[in-house]
Amino acid sequence: MWDPTATRRTVLLAGLVLTGAIGGLIRPAEASAGPGVKSPPIMGCGAWRAREPSDVIPVWDRRPVRIIVHHTATPNVEDLSRNAAEFVARKIQDFHMDQRHWIDTGQNFTISRGGYVLEGRHRSLDVLRGGTQHVEGAHCTGQNVEAVGIENEGTYSTLTPPDQQWERLRDLCAYICHQYGIEPTEIGGHRDFKDTLCPGDAFYAILPRLRGEVADVLGEPLPEGAARRASWPLLRSGSEGRAVQAAQHLLRAAGLTDVEPNGRFDERTVAAVRAYQQAHRTEEINGLIGGETWPLLVTAQGGDDGEVALAVRALTPDGAVRAAALPGIEEWKRLLSADPRP
Ligand SMILES: [Zn+2]
Repeated sequence: MWDPTATRRTVLLAGLVLTGAIGGLIRPAEASAGPGVKSPPIMGCGAWRAREPSDVIPVWDRRPVRIIVHHTATPNVEDLSRNAAEFVARKIQDFHMDQRHWIDTGQNFTISRGGYVLEGRHRSLDVLRGGTQHVEGAHCTGQNVEAVGIENEGTYSTLTPPDQQWERLRDLCAYICHQYGIEPTEIGGHRDFKDTLCPGDAFYAILPRLRGEVADVLGEPLPEGAARRASWPLLRSGSEGRAVQAAQHLLRAAGLTDVEPNGRFDERTVAAVRAYQQAHRTEEINGLIGGETWPLLVTAQGGDDGEVALAVRALTPDGAVRAAALPGIEEWKRLLSADPRP
């Protein structure tokens, strides 16, 4: 989903970076992958009659390092025409400019259900063609300077994108990876960073396949298992399992002792998560534990160590982790990924 408050923090930076004074971290062009990686057709803002942005578009003089996949959370329309593609692009731009008061569309690119690829934020297309700079978007707070954002029209909680949309997404991701030397394993979903359902459970579940197909297009197939990476499970009301129980212990460690560590994401757990989010001023106060709240929960200092240890034990019932040291953040993520019941 395009992120309703994604510019809250990035707006502070916007005025600083307009002409490329920011250096650093450019990988050599040779890092780009093999020959024959072609751009899919992309409609520039002019082609879909976008409105002019209301301010100067921030362009960073360095390459993005990852791609973030979103769904628009709009209806799964049957109309696959170019007109329908332009319609959704304009609706999003109007929403972002008129309701959110952003300077332009938030995401860098949009892909319609019919497989049309459209430039989102102005300049994103030319800058991508150049391969050395990045247009700062407003699609995922904290990632907008580093990540290219792609909105895929539709709602993919139970359904996956239609073939023509999927193929264009794969080809666009491959082209972006090629232009910037981004590894296909650096393709993620919005929920990897925020407490959001985006890009939908069904779509998120096939991101490993996307990474693998993108690597194939680049001519550098991924080794067995490399397309699947550790990720924070997105827990919500009704979720069950070890990850829920671990979260409940971590909430208790943080002082929210109304929560019972029963492995069921019940009403009390929802209330505790909301209270936790409020206290930590997360972007959304929504009772979801995702890519923003998990890292806070597992790295909290000064909590009840006994509860933290119980959280670890909930994830390692066979005692695989020795209790001498608490897990680091990547180890937490790995342990939580292993829970088969999100
Ligand atoms: Zn999103």
